[in-house]
Amino acid sequence: MPISANNTKRKSWIEVPVDSDFPIQNIPFGVFITKDDVITIGTRIGDCAIDMGALQQLNYFEGIELTDDMFMQDTLNDFISDGKKTWRLVRNRLAELFDETNPKLRDNKEHREIVIFNVKYIEMQLPVLIGDYTDFFSNKEHAVNVGKIYRDPEHLLSPNWLHIPVAYHGRSSSIIPSGIPVHRPMGQTLPNGEKTPVFGPSRLVDFELETAFITTDVNVMGENIPINEAEDYIFGMVILNDWSARDIQKWEYEPLGPFLSKNFATSISPWIITMDALEPFRAKGPKQDPAPLPYLQQKGKHNFDINLEVAIQPENSEATIVTISNVKHMYWSMSQQLTHHTSNGCRVNSGDMMGSGTVSGTTQDSFGSMLELTLGGKTPIKLSDGSERKFINDGDTVIMKGFCKNNGVRIGFGEVSTKLLPPFVRK
Ligand code: MN
Repeated sequence: MPISANNTKRKSWIEVPVDSDFPIQNIPFGVFITKDDVITIGTRIGDCAIDMGALQQLNYFEGIELTDDMFMQDTLNDFISDGKKTWRLVRNRLAELFDETNPKLRDNKEHREIVIFNVKYIEMQLPVLIGDYTDFFSNKEHAVNVGKIYRDPEHLLSPNWLHIPVAYHGRSSSIIPSGIPVHRPMGQTLPNGEKTPVFGPSRLVDFELETAFITTDVNVMGENIPINEAEDYIFGMVILNDWSARDIQKWEYEPLGPFLSKNFATSISPWIITMDALEPFRAKGPKQDPAPLPYLQQKGKHNFDINLEVAIQPENSEATIVTISNVKHMYWSMSQQLTHHTSNGCRVNSGDMMGSGTVSGTTQDSFGSMLELTLGGKTPIKLSDGSERKFINDGDTVIMKGFCKNNGVRIGFGEVSTKLLPPFVRK
């Protein structure tokens, strides 16, 4: 079935601002609360949020097999469970409906008023109930940079790194959408030169610039997914900020990996950009040397050309972009990550989320964390208000954005924007 929603020539009867992340070629999926306090599944074109629950009630999805309340839910999990064919039918239908040549909804004022809201008046929610969250470590530049700070110079990469998409199991309970502030975590750290640890606010709160993919029901327990099928189980992607407390991380991470240094918060952008929408932006990944074991070998383009940036906005001041990177740098592809994840029979369900790992480029201005940008806090970054940052200060807002562009079409992710608050104080 063709992805007619990707037609680059198509224009919408909804006005789309120049350089919007959400032209009619995007058609992402999300969950929002309308100003009438109704929660619904929806999409977005330009600055208009579109209530898909209302569209379904008004019969605009006629002919597509969907349960009656499919879009009147507070998560996308059931829709995602319906599989790739349904996602494509629905996205194609939305593209048709909002095509400038289609009068059906365009010329029905009463329906338009029920279905379309300015994004100013909605509140985005988490798009899925995330059952399980895994965070990979799949960017070689990041792994080497972290190796330079934490490991010995002879062995910057751990011996397994070129053979396994390394990951840890994260915590889904602290995943939040853009806009929800985060408290600076308390935790146990070992001060430099000391022999006994202390407990207190983390002094080294950092972001990690990542993307994440969201899966449909992948397998039954015990079953593995071959590499050439893995992409069929990936619904779409978001931008992810893997908040990290470096001083807590350094003290706790051996021998089992990150724990409380990471699970106090993980922020994501609220619109899921489908893999169908990202299809025109495929890119070849870096050459893998040594060749991975056969179960992880793949040919063709399995990376995606997604531009990423991070800005820091101090309280009452303007934002400064501190890094610009691109997802095409990832060493391990999403299909390799998912195949590896199920290779032992681990079950992966609809709504599970897999983080990419920090996306760093090859140069100092393209690194995906403050740890790397400031060489572990040694070389501070200057912001446009003249202040300096080694890590993130209380009151700072970290803003991550992502977009793809080619053949005159630009689609984007919107943003994930999160303010860091002082430590929580119990009243
Ligand atoms: Mn991470």
